[in-house]
This record gives sequence, C-alpha cells and structure tokens, in this order.
Amino acid sequence: MSATPPISTASCTSSPGATPEPCPKPTLWSATALPHRPDPTCDTHVHTRLCGHAVGDMEEYVQAAIARGLRRLTFLEHLEEGIDSPVVTWLTEADFDLYFSEGERLRRLYGEKIDIRLGVECGYNEEAVENLRHRLAARPWDAVGISCHYLRTAPSRHLNLFSRRRENVEAAAREGGDALLSRYFALLGEAVMELSAGTTLCHLDGALRHLPGLRLLDHHLEQVTTLLDLIKQRGLYLEVNTSGIAIRGEPFPRQSILAMAVERDIPLQLASDAHRPEEVGRSFALAGELIRSLAAPC
Ligand SMILES: [Zn+2]
Ligand SMILES: [Zn+2]
Repeated sequence: MSATPPISTASCTSSPGATPEPCPKPTLWSATALPHRPDPTCDTHVHTRLCGHAVGDMEEYVQAAIARGLRRLTFLEHLEEGIDSPVVTWLTEADFDLYFSEGERLRRLYGEKIDIRLGVECGYNEEAVENLRHRLAARPWDAVGISCHYLRTAPSRHLNLFSRRRENVEAAAREGGDALLSRYFALLGEAVMELSAGTTLCHLDGALRHLPGLRLLDHHLEQVTTLLDLIKQRGLYLEVNTSGIAIRGEPFPRQSILAMAVERDIPLQLASDAHRPEEVGRSFALAGELIRSLAAPC
C-alpha cells in the first residue's frame, strides 16, 4: 500500500483573491512557485453522481484521490439557472444541501489525509445573471468555476454545447459551429465580467468538442485573446482541463492557447473534470510536461 502524503495547508488554491497559504514542495516540478506551474497534487475539478450524468459517490472520489497521492481534491459540481433542456445536468438546491453535508462528513473522516474543497461550476446564462449571483452568494463555496454549457437556440430550448448525444451534435451542426462558437466565447467574456465570485475559468475551448471538423477561425482567436486578457485583468485562474487529452489529444484549452496564457503569466490549475472516480487526477503528468515545455525559456 502506498503511503499517504502528509496533508499540508498548501496553496494550489482555488481562490486567487485569498491570502496565500504556505506551499509545500511540489513533487513533480521545481519549488519555484511560478504561477503557470500548477500543483500536480491538486485536482481542482471533479463531479459526482449528484449531477445526474456522472457516476460515483463523493466518498469514492475522495478515496480515488487519496489512492493517487493527491493532497487536495476540489469538488466543482454543476449549477445552472434558467436552462430550458429536457435533460437535467445540474444539482438542485436540495442536492447542494446534501453535497455540503456529505462534504463535511468526508472532511471529518478523511481530513487527516486530504484537503477536501467544496466548489461549484457555475454555468453562465445571460438571461439569469441575478439569480446566478444570488445563488453564488448564498453558500460558502471554496471555489467558483465559470463555464458556459448552454446556448439558447429556440424560444423554449437551450442547446448543450458539451454533449456528445447525437441529437445535440446534429442540432449544433444545423445552427453552424462557427456562429455558435462566436456566441460561446462572447458569453464567457460576459460571464467573467458579471460573476465577480468566479475564481477559475473552466475548459475554455471545450465547447462543441464532439462536432466533427470544428476549427478555431481568426475571429475566434481574437475573442480568445480578449478573454485571456480579461482573465489576467480580473485575477482568475485558467483551468487546464485534462479531459480533453482523451477526446482530442490536447487539454482544454489547447496548447496554442495555453502558450498565450503562459505568456501572460495567468495562473493555471490542473483539473480532471472527472465524471468517474477512476478519472481523478487523469493525465496530470502529461499536462504538466506540456505546461513545462511552454514555460521553459528558449
Ligand atoms: Zn458534467
Ligand atoms: Zn463543465
């Protein structure tokens, strides 16, 4: 059985505005705490069966993280507001009550072995900004990830841009990937401006990941540049979401965008976006190599 690393009060922290805590020596990278070198012992984004499209209880994710030798695990469960969709992919307020009470129980049980954080992935909806703000302010989140999963494509229908379901991929193709992507990047920028509780931008170029042949065009790249400048200006973390490696061989965001982030000294966080316990901490070594190569001086 592998030894459990001692828990530390370190700061792979999800809260850029918070007072920095002491950091232990990172195990894989140099102790030089460059902002673009995220701590590989912290997984900053996992889900659970509570969201309806993941499997495994919170406890199974904690046990998987301990088995992997992680020092910190941040649950970042789905919050959406005002979305018209036949498939629910988010937690209700009653689910979040359970989430917090179970999270507290797990902290008591496993707190000696791992630092458990209870955060939220807030899906942006420009029609429901006040309600989103209200719900974000109502609970003591340890981290607030900003994303945008849904776009309205009909008076009574939102389209899930991250879904691999055939009906959603076909609907996206009918709408046109180029136009949807432009709307998506514009909304992410709006989200960063509107949701001041946000601490991290999640899976930046992950939208329409299952739409074949989608490419980032020049005008999309201009939007991404503006978005990165905004992230830097507002002091957010940028997530390096390793779920992309299994889907397309690169994290979300892709290498070229990560290079732009590193150039701007935007702090990065590693995130598995696990929807199964065995995915906790997935491909972190590979993502670490990639970031290190981008950060290395010529
Ligand atoms: Zn999910
Ligand atoms: Zn997401």
